[in-house]
Amino acid sequence: MEEIEIIKPDDWHVHFRDNEILKAVVPETSRHFARSIVMPNLVPPILNAKQAIEYKKRIKKAIPSTDNFEPLMTIYLTEETNKKELKQAFNDEAVFAVKLYPAGATTNSDSGVKDIHKIMPVLETMAEIGMPLLIHGEVTDPNIDIFDREKVFIDEKLNSICKNLPELKITLEHITTKEATEYVKESNKNLAASITPHHLALNRNAIFVGGIRPHNYCLPILKREIHRNSLVDVAITGNSKFFLGTDTAPHTTHDKENECGCAGIFNATYCLPILAQIFDDNNSIKNLEKFISKNGALHYNLNINKEKIRLFKTPKNLFFKKFINVNEYKIKNFEPNFPVFWNISK
Ligand SMILES: [Zn+2]
Repeated sequence: MEEIEIIKPDDWHVHFRDNEILKAVVPETSRHFARSIVMPNLVPPILNAKQAIEYKKRIKKAIPSTDNFEPLMTIYLTEETNKKELKQAFNDEAVFAVKLYPAGATTNSDSGVKDIHKIMPVLETMAEIGMPLLIHGEVTDPNIDIFDREKVFIDEKLNSICKNLPELKITLEHITTKEATEYVKESNKNLAASITPHHLALNRNAIFVGGIRPHNYCLPILKREIHRNSLVDVAITGNSKFFLGTDTAPHTTHDKENECGCAGIFNATYCLPILAQIFDDNNSIKNLEKFISKNGALHYNLNINKEKIRLFKTPKNLFFKKFINVNEYKIKNFEPNFPVFWNISK
C-alpha cells in the first residue's frame, strides 16, 4: 500500500449556499480542509461586512466540533461598492477578498458588474491595501460563443485590469483554457489562477455521453481535451501560480435535472482522492502538496497550515456514495469517468 503525508490543504473557492444546504455541505469541506474562501453569491448577495460577519456565523455553526476549519469571507463587488467601507472591512479582517462577477455570468450573478470602468476606483483602493480580487473570468455577451467566453474576457477585460493595476493581487478563478494557463504563466507575479477538480478530470464530451449529462454542466463550461491537458500540465508540475479552488457548488438534483438545469458541480466529498489519482496517473504525486496545500497560501500571503493529512492508495477502487441528503432533497456527488484508488486516512 502506498501512503503519503502532506500539509493539510485549503480550498480557495467554495459555495456553501445557506440554510439547510449550508448545514449539509459545510462538513464535507471542513472535514479535509483547513481554510476556504467562501463565495458571496447568495440570494441576495453578501454586499458588506455586516452581512459577511452574519454569514460567517451561520457557517461556523455548521462546522462539526471535531473539525478545525476557518472560512474566509468575501464581498460581492457591484458598481455601488463603497471603497471606504471596503477598506474598513478588510482592516477589521471581517472580509478577506472581493469577488467580481460580470453581470449574468453564473448562478446568482445578476447584480454583478456591467462596466469595468465603474469599479476601477474600488480596485485601486484594493491594490493599495493589498486586498485580493477574485474574478469569474467570462464575458456575458450572448453573441460570444459559450466556449470562447473565458478567452475573450482575458483579451478584453483582464488584460487591461492587469496592465493598469499590476500591484493588485488577482485570482483568475476556475480557469478552463490553454489561453488562460498561458496568460497567467506570462503575467506579473500578482496574477494567479485556481483550477477545479472537474476541469482537470473531464473534457466537454462528458456533458454529452449517451445523452445530456446535467451533473457535468458547470460554468465556465467544460472545454476541449487540449485545454484540459494544459490545465493538468500546470497543476502537476507544481507551478506556483496555480492552485486548487474546487468551486464545489451544490444544487439539488431537482434543480440540476430540469428543463433549465442549474450550473455547478458538487465535488467537496471526494475532491482530494480524485486529485491524488490525477496526479498519480501523471507520475506527479510529489507535486500534489504544492497544488492543494502550498501555492494558494503563498499567493494570498498566508501561513502554510501546520496540520498534516495522510492519503493512501489501495488495490480496490474507491466506492463513491452517490448523494448527500438535504431533507427530502438530494445533492449528487461528483464522480469522474475513471477509477480512483486513493483515499484519505481517518
Ligand atoms: Zn464558483
